[in-house]
Amino acid sequence: MPIKALDPKVVARIAAGEVVERPASVVKELVENALDAGSSQISVEVRGGGVSLIKVADNGSGIASAEVELAFDRYATSKLENLDDLESIQSLGFRGEALPSITAVAQVDMVTCAAGERAGTYLALKDGAIASRSSQGRPQGTTVTVANLFRKIPARLKFLKSVATENAHIANVVSQYALAFPEVRFSLSIDGRAALRTSGSGRLIDSIVEVYGAEVADSMIELKGEAAMPQVTGRIGSPKVNRSGRGYLSFFVNRRWVNSRLLARAVEEAYHGLLMVGRHPITVINISLPLNEVDVNIHPTKSEVKFANERAIFSAVQRAVRQALTEQIAVPRVEAAVTRPVFPSAVRETATIPYSGVAPGPAFPPPTPSMALPVLRVLGQLDNSYIIAEGPDGLYLIDQHAAHERILFERISQQRLRREVEVQGMLEPMTLEVSPRQEAVLRSRYQDLNEFGFAIEPFGDKTFLVRAVPALLHKEDWAGMLRELLDSLSEGDKGDWAEEVTISMACHSAVRAGQSLSDAEMQELVRQLEQSDTPHTCPHGRPTMIHLSSEQLKKQFGRT
Ligand code: ADP
Ligand code: MG
Repeated sequence: MPIKALDPKVVARIAAGEVVERPASVVKELVENALDAGSSQISVEVRGGGVSLIKVADNGSGIASAEVELAFDRYATSKLENLDDLESIQSLGFRGEALPSITAVAQVDMVTCAAGERAGTYLALKDGAIASRSSQGRPQGTTVTVANLFRKIPARLKFLKSVATENAHIANVVSQYALAFPEVRFSLSIDGRAALRTSGSGRLIDSIVEVYGAEVADSMIELKGEAAMPQVTGRIGSPKVNRSGRGYLSFFVNRRWVNSRLLARAVEEAYHGLLMVGRHPITVINISLPLNEVDVNIHPTKSEVKFANERAIFSAVQRAVRQALTEQIAVPRVEAAVTRPVFPSAVRETATIPYSGVAPGPAFPPPTPSMALPVLRVLGQLDNSYIIAEGPDGLYLIDQHAAHERILFERISQQRLRREVEVQGMLEPMTLEVSPRQEAVLRSRYQDLNEFGFAIEPFGDKTFLVRAVPALLHKEDWAGMLRELLDSLSEGDKGDWAEEVTISMACHSAVRAGQSLSDAEMQELVRQLEQSDTPHTCPHGRPTMIHLSSEQLKKQFGRT
């Protein structure tokens, strides 16, 4: 084909493809415009998954009658004057492409009225061009109506998902902005049904109640932002409220809703060991930092940003979240534990080796004060499964398996990081036969398993030679543990494989439930638990103990 310039109409649609991917993108751009206009009320109405109709009305600044047409010109914007402004963008929009892009792929009309104007302006566009203009009464603000999205681009239409899915994306966009701007009253109606309504009270918690419900909101802990930049504020869910996807992590950078792997990782690290593998928290996190320390101009839909100092942001977020969790997480109280299980019990009680005493070693960093346990005095064992102990404030029932798992999990992690894993060499190398699925995993991982104390090498068809295993594992158990681990790793993306290995090793090496312990063993276990970083939960996220406070005891015995 010869090279030639594309028809301007085609160009318009190609560019539109970047900004307007699906109906929710239109909603996002229009809501951002309404927010940039300083609105305190924004209502969104959609029909047919946003394909038939999207209508966004606000009470913001409005557009002066003389400028209404300009708003639909590509690269025409009121938010940016020169290149320098790009360094410190305060508004959500700045490229002047949203309205023309939307106009290129839908039928658009606008009614707008600026402050001080007697009447508003009505402008209708068709196929990207102005079709009619008149004056129309309207209080200050703007209403944009987008109809028949992608009607002339069947290829795009075909790629849309079901109406329900598109509605879900739209609801998510509006929800995110409702969380980012609690002082704005949002309403969303989907096919005539009120899907979301926020009060505009200015309090984040009120928005959270509307978006996630009262129960989730109740469990959310406030982040106490430090005064210094980067300032991290917002609310985070307690570990017991968790989800299977990362879709409930909301980040707003200078009030812009962004996706960020960096921030997600900071949060997940802060929750490390408090959630079961594969579970994710609910968080609403606002990050404020100087405008020139974040580049918002790196992504077509502005949904990703680049930080000048990623490290500082990462650790500020991780610290803020961790601190809030530390202060909040107390030992589960008896009422909670009795009325409903606090954590789903997904632990496999499969450890089969005898409790072999615990090697000495305050190898752990000093515990964070409020997360740490008080010194406990062991009173005895119940059911060969629970250690009964007394603390400064009442009684503790400790799940011996879960507690030991926690201790071993931290020990294995530490040893691995310091490359100090204790190994037991085999007198003679042993062979390990594996299934095809297990083999696939082991072939890609056997060298990495070195870090954990395994010395394994391929040895023919579905067979491996094992020369050493971690000292922690019992002689009879390592093969079973390895096979189970390989099975679980082969089930697909479980997140952090190294964590899987650590958990699996801890689980297999921990003392079982049903096993009788001597006083000395119990004391040692409790002493080590006291030194643990996060003594209150096992690596799967289950509680390791239940606390019955002196106050509760008094109450129960009618002594108050
Ligand atoms: P951008 O937001 O990047 O400037 P848009 O194409 O989204 O580009 O909008 C173009 C211009 O139209 C904006 O700069 C703004 O001046 C004006 N505008 C759009 N929507 C609104 C609104 N809801 N209220 C007031 N002004 C608006
Ligand atoms: Mg815009």
